[in-house]
Amino acid sequence: MQTAADLIVILGTGGTIAGTAKTASDGVGYTAAQLRVEDLLAAVPALAGRSLEALQVAQLDSKDMDFSTWQRLAAAVHAQLARPEVRGVVITHGTDTLEETAYLLHRVLAPAKPVVLTAAMRPATALAPDGPQNLFDAVQVAAAPGAAGVVVAFAGRVHDATQVRKTHSYRVDAFESADGALVARVEEGAVRLLGRWPAGEALGLARIERPADAWPRVEIVMNHAGADGRLVQALQTQGVDGLVAAGTGNGTLSRALDAALRDAEAAGVKVWRSTRCDAGPVMDLPGLLPSAGALSPVKARIEMILALLGETS
Ligand code: ASP
Repeated sequence: MQTAADLIVILGTGGTIAGTAKTASDGVGYTAAQLRVEDLLAAVPALAGRSLEALQVAQLDSKDMDFSTWQRLAAAVHAQLARPEVRGVVITHGTDTLEETAYLLHRVLAPAKPVVLTAAMRPATALAPDGPQNLFDAVQVAAAPGAAGVVVAFAGRVHDATQVRKTHSYRVDAFESADGALVARVEEGAVRLLGRWPAGEALGLARIERPADAWPRVEIVMNHAGADGRLVQALQTQGVDGLVAAGTGNGTLSRALDAALRDAEAAGVKVWRSTRCDAGPVMDLPGLLPSAGALSPVKARIEMILALLGETS
């Protein structure tokens, strides 16, 4: 008998949403990744009676996110989505690297079912924690008719994994989509579609199966006043495989940094230009180092890692 896919699986990875502080008024001196995903669900009575399953995949502060956790998480998401009874997956995560995890999952899995990442800026013990509302909203998004792809549900807005960036260090609405292109809003539990659900071609889990300690080493170097390129030379002596330049404006680079990056490229290091601006693409021009398009430096780094994994597998 065909069963309706109505199960939402919540995968816990830690973060401030699972963080605790000694006092309710302490919003910054807390410890992230203390509560289990079942505890987070227990704090949202509005989800009682829903068809939910909880699984703890990791328990870390997302500033410490690493390749092996990404491998485990991607495999867990893939396995859950393959179950016919699963309608979608929600991932509780820290805000710090949430956009990186979202982008990686988008590129590797590009799922037809929804994968909704959510998080919190305040710990679970705060006077007014934002985590329970965000978790409730994320489940609503995962269950929404037509929902698909990797998105971030945060502070009432639904962001595309390719567009989203953490843009504020403290505010509860800490995320923005580049050029304001939201997928949807969540209002009183209702998902109001504004754009399109993300879609793409999946690279596949095999792309990231290499042991995490053998992944290519890709670093980000920034252009700024006085950028002299010596950092690039130092990284080359350490055997860096790729470099993403977070350039100024349209990916512009100081003469010295540009020269150092060209030398690195000539020596076999993959080099792309992105921008340190909060939004906007880097337009390619003849004679310049290749552009990373509209990807932020951290997302361009992931894209380059995936490209290098593909070249050498
Ligand atoms: N450092 C925390 C984390 O990323 C911050 C947060 O979740 O807001 O896990």
